[in-house]
Amino acid sequence: MTDRYAQLAQNALDDVPLSEADARWILDGEDVELLSLVQAAFIPRRAHFGRRVGVQVLNNVQNGLCPEDCGYCAQSKTTEAPVREYPMKSDEEILKGAAEAAAGGAVRYCMAMSGRGPSLHRAERFAKLIRQIKAEHDIEVCLSAGLMGDEHVAVLKAAGLDRMNHNLNTSEAHYNKICSTHTYADRVETLEAARRAGIELCSGLIIGMGEVSEDIIEVVFKLHSLGAPSIPVNFLIPIEGNAVQDDGSLSPERCVRVLCLVRLANPRAEIRIAGGREGHLRGLQSLALYAANSLFVGGYLTTRGDAWSETFGLIEDAGFEVAESARGEERPTTEAKTRRGFRLPGSEALLRPDVAAPQPESH
Ligand code: SF4
Repeated sequence: MTDRYAQLAQNALDDVPLSEADARWILDGEDVELLSLVQAAFIPRRAHFGRRVGVQVLNNVQNGLCPEDCGYCAQSKTTEAPVREYPMKSDEEILKGAAEAAAGGAVRYCMAMSGRGPSLHRAERFAKLIRQIKAEHDIEVCLSAGLMGDEHVAVLKAAGLDRMNHNLNTSEAHYNKICSTHTYADRVETLEAARRAGIELCSGLIIGMGEVSEDIIEVVFKLHSLGAPSIPVNFLIPIEGNAVQDDGSLSPERCVRVLCLVRLANPRAEIRIAGGREGHLRGLQSLALYAANSLFVGGYLTTRGDAWSETFGLIEDAGFEVAESARGEERPTTEAKTRRGFRLPGSEALLRPDVAAPQPESH
């Protein structure tokens, strides 16, 4: 590594804040060598998390029916996406999801609810569910339920909520281009209420929504100033019918650079490769694990993602390990993984060597 990459890594290890000039260079520097940058990001990642990858399961406990107009979201009031709307799931369904996530080895169960924010009555219902989940399983609980004030978060904190997710998504300046029914300041206020109550913050961003590098840098630095210990990085999933569509800016390399920026600016944070990893990182998913230390499995709010077996394959093939316990019964054996690698997708038949194919007759 040249001096600049080594200095970035050392600063991150020493908790020296990343400079704006370095942030700009990480995202746009023409002389950036991707592997050297990834190695610089890996050094603080390894210092704080080793080679472990936390796997999280998301349960969308209420889908659609939202009065807000976030343009990237297939649950918004303005979307024409044909989502399957449903009101809040029954307590039994939510508890079953928690039991499955715990049995599968997930470190955390994330409940996400569409909508502007819960009523106090709804917050109390979540509190009851959280108490039951924590009593029955050794799993952390995270809730993503929209805008909330001090009263709501106090109820949830008393029930043992570990984390609250509320993404900032983009910069303050870009926010009104993606949403008009609430503001960036509303979102910051919700995060600050959670922080005042002593709930850990999970807050991240979405890239690929027409923002410029300065917007990404601003939100990444804001997350650092809020001290968010958990930062999901989403890559916009272009959903037909949504107002905000993929802006064409996301190459796999750009996505890896953004993850390196988030790591080097937030060295101690749990950085999660979130929505859109499969489609945007593509062949660089394993490289992304050198900067990030966590990912979702099994899908996102309104779209499907890779299943457990593919995700375990991704992690282990790259030489990383699944944090905590693992989904024992579904964890592929080495033999199964090797055989899977030599099958045509969707086929049971093993590939045959080309030499076995009939050869053209020679004259
Ligand atoms: S992101 Fe949340 S608040 Fe915005 S439209 Fe979607 S569900 Fe509603």
